[in-house]
Amino acid sequence: MAKGNVHIVVERCKACGFCVEFCPTKVLALSSVFNSKGYHPPHVVNPEKCSGCDLCGMYCPDFAIYGTRVVPVRGEK
Ligand code: SF4
Ligand code: SF4
Repeated sequence: MAKGNVHIVVERCKACGFCVEFCPTKVLALSSVFNSKGYHPPHVVNPEKCSGCDLCGMYCPDFAIYGTRVVPVRGEK
């Protein structure tokens, strides 16, 4: 599976949970901390499972999260 990273813009999040629900590999969970608006943003619980597919970014209504694929270095698998 392609490797990726997920980036969370904590202060934009309104804790709808879409990213947690729709991540196909269950990378995310809502955290117990609050952002300055009083919402619980997601945090990464399974970073090694992130493919960088950006489904979380497509579902987020607040542009608070996005996934990026890691481009493999030539010669690596
Ligand atoms: S989809 Fe966006 S607004 Fe909803 S919990 Fe995830 S990061 Fe927050
Ligand atoms: S980029 Fe894809 S695999 Fe990574 S957290 Fe977002 S939905 Fe999950």
